[in-house]
Formats: sequence, structure tokens, C-alpha cells
Amino acid sequence: MKKNGLLYLMIAGIVLGIFSGWMFGNTMLAVEWIGEMFLDALKMLVVPLIISSMIVGIAGLGDIRKVGKTGFIALSYFLITTCIAVGIGLVMVNIIEPGVAVEMTGEQVPDKVVGKESVSITDILKTFVTPNLVQSMANMEILPLIMFSLVFGGVLTTLGEPGKRAIDFFDTVNVAIMKIVHLLMYFAPIGVFALIASKLGAAGGGDLFLAELAKIGKYVTTVISALLIHGLVVLPAILYMITRRNPIIYFKNVVGALTTAFSTASSSATLPITIDCAEKNNQISRKSCLFVLPLAATVNMNGTALYESVAAMFIAQMLGIQLGLGDQMIIFLTATLAGIGAAGIPEAGLVTMVMVLQSVGLPLEGIGMLLSIDWFLDRCRTTINVWGDSIGAGVLDNLEEKWVERGGKN
Ligand code: ASP
Repeated sequence: MKKNGLLYLMIAGIVLGIFSGWMFGNTMLAVEWIGEMFLDALKMLVVPLIISSMIVGIAGLGDIRKVGKTGFIALSYFLITTCIAVGIGLVMVNIIEPGVAVEMTGEQVPDKVVGKESVSITDILKTFVTPNLVQSMANMEILPLIMFSLVFGGVLTTLGEPGKRAIDFFDTVNVAIMKIVHLLMYFAPIGVFALIASKLGAAGGGDLFLAELAKIGKYVTTVISALLIHGLVVLPAILYMITRRNPIIYFKNVVGALTTAFSTASSSATLPITIDCAEKNNQISRKSCLFVLPLAATVNMNGTALYESVAAMFIAQMLGIQLGLGDQMIIFLTATLAGIGAAGIPEAGLVTMVMVLQSVGLPLEGIGMLLSIDWFLDRCRTTINVWGDSIGAGVLDNLEEKWVERGGKN
């Protein structure tokens, strides 16, 4: 199918999904299984894709110093863009003040975050390794998989001919998985339609959605406008300044990944399509795609970090708690960390928000207030997360190219 044909079908899938879920409410649960099948098919590819991508990506980068340098530049880039996103969130929430005069209801600590009070930075660091690799694969814990594959790939490059044969094997696995991704793309329009229609239907359709909006509409407006500023102004500006690429064309090329992110609310599940769009449509070099994008899908969460800062401030405003510059600085730092620490799965941001709220002494009950609309805002922030990853791949690939041109060894 032509690239543009699929793009229009994906957009049609989203629009039709919103329309059907809005109009027919619960009835649309009838198509839930189709959405779940699409989502599961994507998830099925994630583990072999991440392992083979990281091994081939590392091997493509060559010697270990190069890996260190590329990894350092990538992580610095992720950190800088995440900080900018959080900054935008804080500015917007201070200007709009969505929580002022809003009454707090739903004073329960949501089940999702119960018991997460003691999650600290050291706990996040501990997630880099796992006592059981197979269990991590089963639970889709991506970070230890990435770490293992990085080290494994690095070691393979030092083993001479036998190592090269093993790398060739993973290369073939990777190519085969990407072929399956291409096939799956044909089902994506119907998959995104079913996911959106059934989710909006399950949430009560248009009427209930509007009722929720009426309650905390200003909050939703703040989150969405901050996400839009980051996604439509800041990220495209960075892309253009560094790579001179046309952000509109770049955007068009990743619409498949963005619509999938919006419908699945999961950066990890979207990863196969993000890689496909980056490599095939935006012509990012394969080694950059394979090395940067799995890493980005796990640690680069611009939208989530932005969301956490706005949500924390919203809760404070609702409770009439004045947070000064010092406290907002703490929110800035913890929201950035919370974005990095959040897993690429639905509503993971709500869990890491515990850390942000606790850092400035806000009650976890506040999260209860955000729950009813989180399924929607999760989709919006995941879309920006994936957009940030896609732009990151383009920028880092370009920086790498310039470095090689200036005489750095490839
Ligand atoms: N759902 C988001 C993602 O997968 C994480 C979050 O903000 O909850 O990127």
C-alpha cells in the first residue's frame, strides 16, 4: 500500500473510532477484541525486536568508546528536551491556574498507586537489572532487557568471527521482525479504530466525557495546550535547527506511529511502528533507529514529565496550597525524573507521580481526582512521547553524521 494511503486510513481509523465511541457508547465494546488483538500482536513483537535491535545497534556503532559517546549524547538530548517540556508545563499551569476554585472530590488513594509511597530513586535505579531475564520478558520490563542486550551486543563485538556470526543471526531476526511489522501495519487502521471506539465507549461515550470535561476542563486545556506547545513548536524547532529537515513532512511520515501511540497509550507497544516509520519513511539510518529508539521509548518521555508537573501543581492549587519557587524547582526535578522512570505502558505516569507529590508533601488522594480523565490524557502524552522519540532519532542521527563528516571514526 502507498505510504499516503495508509496514513489517511490511520487518520480515518482514529476519527471513526472517536465518532463511534462518542455516539454509541458501551455498544462499541463489541469491537474491543479487535483492538486487543492488534495491541497483543504489537506487544508480541516488542521483546524480540528490542533484543535484536539493541544487539545490532551496538554492533553497528563499532567500538565501545563510540557506544559510550553516542549513549551519552542521546541521554543528554533526552534530558534537555524533557526539562524543556516540564518547564513549559510549569509556566502554563501558573498562567492558567486550572486548580483554583475547583473542588476536590474522589478523595481515595487510587488502587494503582497504593503501596507505591516508598518508591525512591534507588528503586528506579534497581530496575536497570533483573534477577530473572525470562520473567522480565514476560512482564515486558524493558529496561533490564535493554541493559542486557547492550552488554551482550558489546561483548559479541569483541569475539571476532564467532561473535560476528551471532550478530548476523540477530540482524536476520531483526529484519524478519520488521517484515512482520510491515504486515501488521495493514491491520493498523482497523486496530486503532477498535481501540479508540471501545475505550471511549467504555468510558461512557461522548456525554460522560463532556461531563468529565466540564468538571476539570481547565486542567485538560492546560495539559493539552502545554503538550501542543512542546509538540508543535519546541520539538519541530529543534528538528529544524539541527537537521534542517521540514518538520511537516517529518510529521507526516510518523503519523502511523503517532496514531498508534494515541490509540494504545503505550510507547513500548508502539515501538515497532516507531522504528518502521523512522527507518522507512524518514530515512533515519538503521543503526540510529535500532540503538536510539528502544532507549528513547523507555526513558524519553517528554509528555509524561510535562503532565506530571502540571498535575502536581493542579492538585496543589485545588487544595489551596501555595507552592513557591523552591517547591516548584523540586517539582521540576522530580517530574523530570518521573518521566524518565515511567514505563512505556498505559497510565505508568500515574504511578511515578507518587514521587513528585511526595517530594513537596502533596496528598496522594489528589491522583483520585485525575483518574476519570487519565485514559484520555494518557493518550495525548503518549503521542507526544513518541513524537519526541521520533524527533530524537532524527536529531541524533544527524549529529552522528556531522561528527563522522568532521573526521570522527565511524
Ligand atoms: N503511557 C505512557 C507511555 O507509554 C506513559 C505514561 O505517561 O503513563 O508513554
